[in-house]
Amino acid sequence: MNVSFVDLRAQYLSIKEEIDAAIWQVLDSASFIGGEWVAKFERAFAQYIGRRFCVSCGNGTDAIEVALKAFGIGPGDEVIVPAYTWISTAEAVSNVGAVPVFVDVEEDYYCIDPQLIEGKITSKTKAIIPVHFYGQAANMPAIMQIAQKHQLIVIEDCAQAHGASIEGKKAGNWGHAACFSFYPGKNLGAYGDAGAILIDDERIAETIRRLCNHGQLVKHEHLVEGRNSRLDTIQAAVLSVKLKYLELWTEQRIANARLYTQLLQEQLGGSILPPKVRGNTRHVFHLYVVQCEQRDWIKQYLAKHSIQTAIHYPRALPFLECYAYMGHCPEDFPKSHAMQKRILSLPMYAELTGEQIYYVVNCMKDAILESKQC
Ligand SMILES: *Cc1c(COP(=O)(O)O)cnc(C)c1O
Repeated sequence: MNVSFVDLRAQYLSIKEEIDAAIWQVLDSASFIGGEWVAKFERAFAQYIGRRFCVSCGNGTDAIEVALKAFGIGPGDEVIVPAYTWISTAEAVSNVGAVPVFVDVEEDYYCIDPQLIEGKITSKTKAIIPVHFYGQAANMPAIMQIAQKHQLIVIEDCAQAHGASIEGKKAGNWGHAACFSFYPGKNLGAYGDAGAILIDDERIAETIRRLCNHGQLVKHEHLVEGRNSRLDTIQAAVLSVKLKYLELWTEQRIANARLYTQLLQEQLGGSILPPKVRGNTRHVFHLYVVQCEQRDWIKQYLAKHSIQTAIHYPRALPFLECYAYMGHCPEDFPKSHAMQKRILSLPMYAELTGEQIYYVVNCMKDAILESKQC
């Protein structure tokens, strides 16, 4: 049996007629940037998350960068980010001229540890970017409390958490602004790059809209300089169709995760650590990440048996070459450092079958048995 890590083709085939019709409509209209499809998707997505405004843009990294700029964050400022995340979170901070300050993650949930945030706040700190990592919401009640106390801006990185929630309130609805990516492999993915910023403040929403379109709201009226970061009409059409299925797909991901966890506990109890779900939250399993000894051995064994796995990510940010100038050592981020060698992302998507999940778990069992024999 073959189990790929993601299967974007299976998802496309399940909604092919609707997607093809939507794309043909765009082609027929010959309007490829902006227009009604984009406005329609922005309204629908703002409503889905529960925010007043959605400003679409070119990708999730731009979304974070533009949000930071709109809040006036730049040179001389510090922004707190988790040590374990995709590089975009920190990269966006550096790209506006500010300095990312890393905070270690929680041992159980892999999100920024609120207890460690205050220790990193200085007179230069302007914002916190919590990441709802792997599809699980960060501890937003605690983070918002700290932000209020120190008057910091909170920009949520929701790139991995479309539809996640904490205490019944969606990820993306807690901070001053929220940034989403619609990279094809995300839980809501376009057929190319795409992103969005969600916000309630009308004035800042307008600033963001200007920044994403060369500083203009009305053609040729450039109040400021901006950039070119817009959502293509074809991508908006794809996203509009796919948004209708997001809840269904999310429930399927959650059911798949339940089956994985149940089988892993029954058959491999102790040797594989399944993901833990924070109480009173909805984990949307962008990734299903387990921890194990002999991770590389298991990964190789699964590959030999036609099961694709991945590592998200091989190194925590403070240990990457690009941040070597900060001079961090493993003891600065013990949780992140310990994760690096142990994490493994198993195949996870809505279309994954129960049969495939049984096969993956069985192969992991064989891998562990075989590793003990040699
Ligand atoms: C994917 C991702 C982004 C950036 O998204 P792009 O659309 O690829 O630029 C940002 N943060 C996190 C945590 C991500 O996983």
